[in-house]
Amino acid sequence: MAGRTGEKDDWWVSIPKIELHAHLNGSIRDSTLLELAKSLGEKGSIVFADVEHAILKDDRTLTEVFKLFELIHIVTTDHNILTRITKEVVEDFAAENVVYLELRTTPKKNASIGMSKPSYMEGVIEGLRAVNAVEVALAPHCLGKKGKPFNSGCVCGTPRKRIYIGLLLSIDRRETTASAMETVELALQMRDMGVVGIDLSGNPTVGEWCTFLPALDFARKNGLRITLHCGEVPNLDEIQAMLDFVPERIGHACCFGEEEWKKLLELKIPVEICLTSNIRTETISSIDVHHFVDLYKAEHPIILCTDDAGVFSTSLSSEYILAASTFGLGKQKMLQLAEKAIEFTFADEEVKEELRQIFDSAARTARRDDLMRKEEE
Ligand code: 5GP
Repeated sequence: MAGRTGEKDDWWVSIPKIELHAHLNGSIRDSTLLELAKSLGEKGSIVFADVEHAILKDDRTLTEVFKLFELIHIVTTDHNILTRITKEVVEDFAAENVVYLELRTTPKKNASIGMSKPSYMEGVIEGLRAVNAVEVALAPHCLGKKGKPFNSGCVCGTPRKRIYIGLLLSIDRRETTASAMETVELALQMRDMGVVGIDLSGNPTVGEWCTFLPALDFARKNGLRITLHCGEVPNLDEIQAMLDFVPERIGHACCFGEEEWKKLLELKIPVEICLTSNIRTETISSIDVHHFVDLYKAEHPIILCTDDAGVFSTSLSSEYILAASTFGLGKQKMLQLAEKAIEFTFADEEVKEELRQIFDSAARTARRDDLMRKEEE
């Protein structure tokens, strides 16, 4: 697993959690990235010694992160590798009790290896099918036969834990309107393969909002849900335009001015909060001034997420531990925060209801353990 939790952190691993902001290639295991880079080095496609430092480095600015993604994409843009990474990422999230995962990725083309955006996504779907540590259920419950897992691997006779998956197709800010539209069309074709929405991401200093708007409008008109990376840099005009679009969720919301802040609170757009990512990329100067606390106090909808568990060496459990310890929130409050995320998923009502039951049961267990501990004291 990419994240680092110890034995005393078992409780945080054990509680059910919902992950709504995880980039596939950013969630790659360190060990897998190193292994793949070494193998490309041996083939002479890259000079391993030149990239080893970039992979092992812990603190990176936002600019350095996007440089690392260029390297990651050289290493991972291959159908079989995508399948492997998808399987590993899903199994890593499931291992720390993520019960619902919205995984996002940018469909890519690479003519030299016969890769198109649809075939890129086929590699990802194969990865979901290859998962065998847990049962994979696609978020739109109406798909497939009820109760039948999406993946085929089985542990004979032993019921497996289940993870619900929703896929988001990302538009990279380097793309043209036509290319963004192509991604939305692919997402629409893949609705019966677990695709629930569209994300806008990529280097926030690149591209213009008006380039992506036609594709996002088209996505919305056709029933896809939308989340935007918003306010990673202080581009106030763009933040205003994004908020006026009223996406179903936004990610980060770090560099807001007073007006933007007011609008966000009024519109009650849920915010995907990625603490470690914001600190590592220096988008926020220090954890104690992170806007999590203001949003939490204002009872604004927020969801704790990892962003790029591999790139930032974190895990969802670690993000919960970090928030609890920094902002002085007890386990009960954190469990409630985890549960509230259900309402901000892009899942249908049937899946939400199943998630509510999982969280009800976890809350009962937590209360019982609390009582037993008090009796023993
Ligand atoms: P992929 O889409 O290739 O599976 O995941 C990596 C991509 O996600 C990156 O190339 C970038 O476009 C996007 N991404 C990952 N982390 C961040 C982030 O913190 N901010 C933004 N804006 N984009 C990100």
